[in-house]
Amino acid sequence: MSPPQSPSPDNVIHDILFIGLGPSTLSLAIALSEQSPPPKTVILERSPRFVWSPSTLPTPRAPMRTSLLHDLTTPRNPHSQYTFLNYLVATDSLVAYTNLGAINPPRALFARYLAWVAKAFEEREWVRYGADARAVEPVKVGGAVDHWRVRLADGAPVLTRKVVVAVGAAPQMPASLSGLQSSRVLHTSAYGAALPRILAQNGRVDVAIVGGGEEALEVYNHLRGMGVEGRVVLFHAEKVLRGEDANPYVRNLVAADDPVVPYELRNAGATAGGEMASAHTITALYEDHYAQHISAANPATHDFQIRASRRVMRAEVAGEQVRLHLADPATGLREAACFDFVIVAGFV
Ligand SMILES: Cc1cc2nc3c(=O)[nH]c(=O)nc-3n(C[C@H](O)[C@H](O)[C@H](O)COP(=O)(O)OP(=O)(O)OC[C@H]3O[C@@H](n4cnc5c(N)ncnc54)[C@H](O)[C@@H]3O)c2cc1C
Repeated sequence: MSPPQSPSPDNVIHDILFIGLGPSTLSLAIALSEQSPPPKTVILERSPRFVWSPSTLPTPRAPMRTSLLHDLTTPRNPHSQYTFLNYLVATDSLVAYTNLGAINPPRALFARYLAWVAKAFEEREWVRYGADARAVEPVKVGGAVDHWRVRLADGAPVLTRKVVVAVGAAPQMPASLSGLQSSRVLHTSAYGAALPRILAQNGRVDVAIVGGGEEALEVYNHLRGMGVEGRVVLFHAEKVLRGEDANPYVRNLVAADDPVVPYELRNAGATAGGEMASAHTITALYEDHYAQHISAANPATHDFQIRASRRVMRAEVAGEQVRLHLADPATGLREAACFDFVIVAGFV
């Protein structure tokens, strides 16, 4: 490992600057660190410490949807010191993991692996936490762009020859809910933090989950597993819940190192579009539904329900609750229902 960089004064021009410290940046940072000499690199992360956002869902046993071989480096350089397997060796947990026999690691473990790699780059002094990048401005010399000035939220500049924007996906609320001023409407990414508030509700708690993808279903399964007293209804817009296509031809298409067809096009060609969840999550959901069906055949009497073909048209605060107005896009059928909390999934 090369020695840490000394802290940069404001007028230093870095070779490369990353905005965001997630898996994308970590993967590229590993590749750069293996160059000799490595470029002068700075990584700006607005959070005060490394957090991989999927690990904030309180579902520690959920497996990764991807294989341990799809870690930060193995497909490019399996000899790297930053492979997932090397993380297991470094933390003296290779034998225990091997006996687990899982090609898809638990998400909580993968989050620790990512944090382990992030720490290595903290120790190199590549990472600046609490650095919220707000603007990228060209700095011209003789009329041509010579380098870039990245402005932080406090106005401080950081100079660089190249910029990589790796800010990930942002939580998105549908327009029908985004204008509602209520702490009872939250995004799945805030579910872990809001859980004590949901569970502290006196007596029964009625929860609506909006969305049919992985996060929505995981929140639903989690509330079910917590033995929540009350009604939990998952509303999604499709006719059925859909599982992601994990067949190896699809995986090969997405993972291909194709210099001509960009990743977005390959990914769009490989997926049917719309919301999808992993087979693991859908199976858990179905098993639970079936258990409810054994005790009561009429789904309308179930405390945990899934309502397909439902779009939220609008919402309003109704006393201590939130009233959702829903419609079936195919039939136009409308209904309204009140909930103590509304949890919405979706990213852009
Ligand atoms: C529940 C769930 C499960 C998932 N499971 C898998 C899986 O099994 N396998 C898989 O491959 N993918 C999975 N994903 C997708 C995974 O989240 C992404 O693949 C990955 O996190 C994207 O990495 P990233 O570095 O592009 O972005 P992110 O991980 O989102 O990181 C972006 C970083 O940029 C920072 N940032 C944003 N704006 C700024 C700014 N202006 N200035 C400074 N910093 C900024 C953010 O704070 C964040 O730390 C899952 C996602 C979810 C929600």
